[in-house]
Amino acid sequence: MNTPVIGVLALQGDVREHLIALAAADAVARPVRRPEELAEVDGLVLPGGESTTISKLAVLFGVMEPLRARVRGGMPVYGTCAGMILLADKILDPRSGQETVGGIDMIVRRNAFGRQNESFEAAVDVRGVEGDPVEGVFIRAPWVESVGAAAEVLAEHDGHIVAVRQGNALATSFHPELTGDHRMHALFVEMVRANRTPESL
Ligand code: GLN
Repeated sequence: MNTPVIGVLALQGDVREHLIALAAADAVARPVRRPEELAEVDGLVLPGGESTTISKLAVLFGVMEPLRARVRGGMPVYGTCAGMILLADKILDPRSGQETVGGIDMIVRRNAFGRQNESFEAAVDVRGVEGDPVEGVFIRAPWVESVGAAAEVLAEHDGHIVAVRQGNALATSFHPELTGDHRMHALFVEMVRANRTPESL
């Protein structure tokens, strides 16, 4: 059976919504907090939430270094909103003590689309997602200021980059886990499936 096991980094943020969306996209989904749990998954989602808090807790739980190592090693990873910030090689305006996991050669600007009460929804055309545009929920969302040569821009909104892929790392400024449309998660599950070696099937 080729059902991938996908973790959701469960330190802070909208973990539950991602677990539900992954299960709906035919993955086995489980929360990940510790290095031993990380070692057992085929891919990982970094949820929306507060990126500084998640980064500090990841260091505290001893999961930051193992996570960096697995991302460097090619484990598929998908970050939404705060998760996108965590996947950026560089944050334009980091808070003190804020580290990233890295993995995508991009520079992100935190809270770029404005404050909490300026949150909005917009239809977003995402390369690789068939059919209607994805309903993008933007909550104090970051945007991507610039990407390096290896990163592929998958979507823009208002002239700003809001979805990026580099190899096995995927990131969106918006939150598909909140909409009930599981096509972004299905895309990620496909990435994880494609990455599994025949021995692990
Ligand atoms: N503004 C948050 C941050 O900087 C991200 C918001 C979100 O994930 N919805 O981490």
